[in-house]
Amino acid sequence: MILIANKEGSCGVETAFTALNGRKDGLRAIIDGIKCVEKSLDIHTVGRGGWPDLLGDVTLDASVIDGDSLQTGAVGALKNYLHPVEVAYAIMRQLDHEILVGDGAQRFAAEINAEPCDNLTEQAKTVWHRGLEKCLNRQQLQTFPEIRLLDIAKRAQDPEKVFDTTVYLSRDCDNKISSATSTSGWAWKYPGRLGDSPVIGAGNYADSRYGACACTHTGEMTIRAGTARSVVLYMKMGMSVAEAVREAVADLRHLKQGYLGEVTIHAIDAHDKHSVVSFRGAEPVYYWLWTDNMPKPELFQAERLD
Ligand code: ASP
Repeated sequence: MILIANKEGSCGVETAFTALNGRKDGLRAIIDGIKCVEKSLDIHTVGRGGWPDLLGDVTLDASVIDGDSLQTGAVGALKNYLHPVEVAYAIMRQLDHEILVGDGAQRFAAEINAEPCDNLTEQAKTVWHRGLEKCLNRQQLQTFPEIRLLDIAKRAQDPEKVFDTTVYLSRDCDNKISSATSTSGWAWKYPGRLGDSPVIGAGNYADSRYGACACTHTGEMTIRAGTARSVVLYMKMGMSVAEAVREAVADLRHLKQGYLGEVTIHAIDAHDKHSVVSFRGAEPVYYWLWTDNMPKPELFQAERLD
């Protein structure tokens, strides 16, 4: 058995570890871990308390993958619900679709009695408004939101380029490999922007035969490179997990135009080996690791590659 979670996911690691170690279903264990993060007001990039988009709306993305059946569930731009990861799980189990976004996702959340929540905290609202005041002129402020957001989309990102999804990966006692993600995406994103977290194959992928991969940071890049699916496919083609991640990093390195930033790749294989690499990370990146020969999860530093 193995559990990986990124540092953003710290507050749910104990929950996920206890369930996995207690021989519970691995996908359920990591969803329950992620729910702790979604609920926490200390994490401003996942769930409640997340930073809003340019219009001041907190919109949430999440996805889950069952690596045995390759069934997936993903939700994008979900507003006003506490646990997008639970909504994603319900999409996987109850619908013949893989991804729901926007109004339809909200309707589905209501139909399954998902827990409603106003995810915009007073603190986030204040910071958002202060940011707007900095990049709008007086006339734009008066007519906001009836302005061309395009004019401020780039400027609004720069001062507060806050990243970080939470990602969890596991292999449980039945050898099932699972992965799950949850995020509020970029702070001050253009409304409707989806990152890689709900895009199966970009920010998240799992296949119990080979392994799983989930990414954080610049989703624009992993969407273009199909990073999560590539890592699992490279393992299928015979690479070790470390080689597969390096190959995916080479794919990212090949991107020369468009929005370029940093990416962290988290991957496990079907033999409890793992690789976590921070590509062009400006700061050190940490992750939680537990395998069943360790008494409890420990924090490690990701390898950094340029
Ligand atoms: N990958 C996420 C996104 O693009 C953000 C992050 O992990 O920092 O929405």
